[in-house]
Amino acid sequence: MVELHHDIKELKEYAKENNVPIMMEDGINFLTTFVIKHQTKTVLEIGTAIGYSAIMMALASPNLKITSIERDEERYLEAVKNIKKFKLEDRITLIYRDAEEVELKEKFDLVFIDAAKGKNMMFFEKFSKNLNQNGFIITDNINFHGYVNKDESKIKSRNLRGLVRKIKDYISFLKENEEFKTEFYETGDGIAVSTRI
Ligand code: SAH
Ligand code: MG
Repeated sequence: MVELHHDIKELKEYAKENNVPIMMEDGINFLTTFVIKHQTKTVLEIGTAIGYSAIMMALASPNLKITSIERDEERYLEAVKNIKKFKLEDRITLIYRDAEEVELKEKFDLVFIDAAKGKNMMFFEKFSKNLNQNGFIITDNINFHGYVNKDESKIKSRNLRGLVRKIKDYISFLKENEEFKTEFYETGDGIAVSTRI
């Protein structure tokens, strides 16, 4: 247990030092509580980074299996290393590829979208095909560091404004969706939980 805590702490420190945007503390608590509560058996994660959220979900729920996609080589390799360290190779499968190009036949209880924020809608539509009938789609960073609720004229960078607009469009897309209903949580950096109506 002590060793486990130490290893988790190391993951977080690596993320901080290398600017890897892993889930925030209360966000990860929300996610791990969610998989326990819903007895989630299978997860598809878009955006592994260094494996932190996948490892935390796997540790929280001993029968959980995760498939996770990452396109960045350095992060993918770091995730491979970390998953070995936690001896979770048999429960976490990594795919080193752009998620846009990944086609899976399998169905999952939970699809967790935590990749390029401008592509949420595309990933939602693409991977909802891989969702079990009663499954959930969780999207992280719905508030995008508070920018989503900020006056747009106060956001100086044009790129950032564009990204914030895309997240707002995604929120509207979720709110107006006729196939899925969504609950929004202020936890962490803002989390959306969608499920079929
Ligand atoms: N879920 C992780 C954090 C993910 S950070 C955690 O909380 O521990 C987002 C990651 O998504 C980055 O590492 C980035 O490289 C990856 N990513 C972004 N767009 C992607 C894409 N199209 N396909 C695969 N990975 C992508
Ligand atoms: Mg995130």
